Amino acid sequence: MAGDLIRGIMTSRTERNSSGSGVVYLDANATEPLRPQAREALLEAADLTGNPSSVHRAGRKARALLEQARNTVARYLDVAPLNCIFTSGGTEANVLAMRGLGQGRRFLIGRTEHDAVRKGAPEDAQVVWLDVDANGQVQLDKLEQALAQDETPAFVCLMLANNETGVLHPIDDVVLLCRKYGAHLHVDAVQTAGRLPLSVEQSGIDSLACSGHKMGGPKGAGALLLRGPAPARVLPIFEGGGQEQGRRGGTPPLPAIAGLAAALGAALEQPRDLAPLRNSIEQVAVAAGAKVFGADVPRLNNTTSLALPGKRAQAQLMRLDLDGICVSAGSACSSGKVAFSHVLKAMGAGDLAGQALRVSLPWNVTEQDVARFIESYTRMAQSPAAIGLVDSVV
Ligand code: PLP
Repeated sequence: MAGDLIRGIMTSRTERNSSGSGVVYLDANATEPLRPQAREALLEAADLTGNPSSVHRAGRKARALLEQARNTVARYLDVAPLNCIFTSGGTEANVLAMRGLGQGRRFLIGRTEHDAVRKGAPEDAQVVWLDVDANGQVQLDKLEQALAQDETPAFVCLMLANNETGVLHPIDDVVLLCRKYGAHLHVDAVQTAGRLPLSVEQSGIDSLACSGHKMGGPKGAGALLLRGPAPARVLPIFEGGGQEQGRRGGTPPLPAIAGLAAALGAALEQPRDLAPLRNSIEQVAVAAGAKVFGADVPRLNNTTSLALPGKRAQAQLMRLDLDGICVSAGSACSSGKVAFSHVLKAMGAGDLAGQALRVSLPWNVTEQDVARFIESYTRMAQSPAAIGLVDSVV
């Protein structure tokens, strides 16, 4: 059946690709293409002049739109509207949780967390790193040991889905352990919000971070969501004018926030099962000699992490880029260079941590896009050409 699917994909040549530009964009976990609903909401909000904090009618109109967006996000993610705090994105939402709620606690942080979280604890905080297994899931016995080890209340940071592999932690078990030891559980749901239905209230998660541009919204807005009916106290990172109930100073970026709310609604109302396309890529990649990371455990259905032994990730990335295909390798540094993957290293991947590509399918991916990727990847994998020396994991 998968063979038929692949043949079908390879022959559907007339379809336009997702970007409509000849570029095949398969890097959704870096940022999703803007959804039309988000674009419309963004433009509408950009035309509003008022500052939501102003008391005059222009301000009140902007405030109404801000609160409408807050209600939408709160409804979809199931929190009290007053416990939805808008931020500039996922990084700020994570750091606000860690610094604003974690004061005086010791931090237990997963080794495969995004740098936003790995570097997000207050400067003087004690940090214990939580190991993962070969599939990238947190080792629950190690988590329990770390929770039991010290009486100082813990602040546990574990992401829902990993940005490189798509692997999901067993979050229900994590919630039970955190409850047992009175720990606060903060979850980075930047890659999950909009892709899987989530209820903060029912999940038992204490705080959750999400980001607009990872759902098909504009860049520049995110949200921190807190469980419980009463507005939670959060120490602001910057106090400014006391916006967001004194928890996040600064004029809210209304166009980006309106776009975030519209994107979240569109993503959850029109879910798309990308697993068949992702699986067809993996089938071809494995036949070409690739290893798939985290294949044995629950993962996001749009994400795959594929290593080609002996072929440097950066060289693979550049080869595909020459064919007009955009994917990622490891974590992209701000310099634009590719670093080896700390995620795969934590999973015990050894040298393969420097030889893996992340393919993440966007909400509007087409079969034609996948066919183009498969063609190019197979050529690259089979090529004996010097694709570079093997990188060593340091
Ligand atoms: N957390 C995860 C898991 C991510 O993948 C990212 C971005 O790649 C972030 C946090 C940071 O989000 P933002 O780019 O909105 O600051």
